[in-house]
Amino acid sequence: MESPTFSGKNVLVTGAGSGIGRQISLDLASLGAFIYLLDINKDGLCETAKLCKSEKIKIIHADLCEFGALEDILIAALEGERLDGLVHCAGVSQLSPLKSLDMDRALNTYLINSHAAIFLSKFCSSYRVISKLGASFVFISSIYGQVGSAANSAYAMSKSAITGLVKSLAIELAPKKIRVNSIVPGFIETSMLNKLSENFDAEYVDRLRALHPLGLGGVSDVSNAIVFLLSQKSRWITGSELVVDGGYTAQ
Ligand code: NAD
Repeated sequence: MESPTFSGKNVLVTGAGSGIGRQISLDLASLGAFIYLLDINKDGLCETAKLCKSEKIKIIHADLCEFGALEDILIAALEGERLDGLVHCAGVSQLSPLKSLDMDRALNTYLINSHAAIFLSKFCSSYRVISKLGASFVFISSIYGQVGSAANSAYAMSKSAITGLVKSLAIELAPKKIRVNSIVPGFIETSMLNKLSENFDAEYVDRLRALHPLGLGGVSDVSNAIVFLLSQKSRWITGSELVVDGGYTAQ
């Protein structure tokens, strides 16, 4: 299949300093998009910008939980340009049994994974920001928003909230020609998985691997799906959750 072009398109990518967010930034850069790279991790952002090898990049070093300041930061970064796409990849994981759940961390997990998604949707769909031709919003959910797993309640709750958000916004924003979808990844080899490996024995990580009939995924597996949902090839798809999990939830 021919690759879509994003020439003349502006896309905001959160979590661009690492993992999936970095890979979608690289792919969009190679397809000609102008990308606004947002992350709390400045070094990660600079590394992504270097790897993109594109002039059409702007770095936004910001904390997605600082909702009071975020709108002004985004307006200043856009300098009057309009957005054709939003990819919300920034996220944190939190593995903890309920009895020892740190409630501040649980709230932070919700704020980054879910609340930032609705905040960004509100900002990006406003008439002064959205392209007159419409746009595509893509959120990164997780299989744990769909199926249960122990010691994962705060993360699972934050990801299942994306399901309701996507469906509701798909209806509300259709008149503005804004499509809203999510990707539901299984385990991907990124820093998030490395952090898990630090906290759990090799046997646990091996068991996780075995739960994916096609093995663990790579960042490109998710990025390819994001490119599809951002492009006109998915022009009639909205309110969907695209499962990209190597067969994890098929069992
Ligand atoms: P990652 O840790 O490599 O990247 C997440 C990025 O989010 C980091 O660069 C981090 O600095 C940024 N971030 C965190 N808090 C922020 C904040 N307050 N403000 C701005 N930026 C912030 O993780 P990843 O694996 O690339 O995950 C990307 C998304 O995919 C996440 O939403 C994650 O839940 C989801 N996901 C990942 C996996 C996986 O196996 N890696 C599986 C399913 C879903």
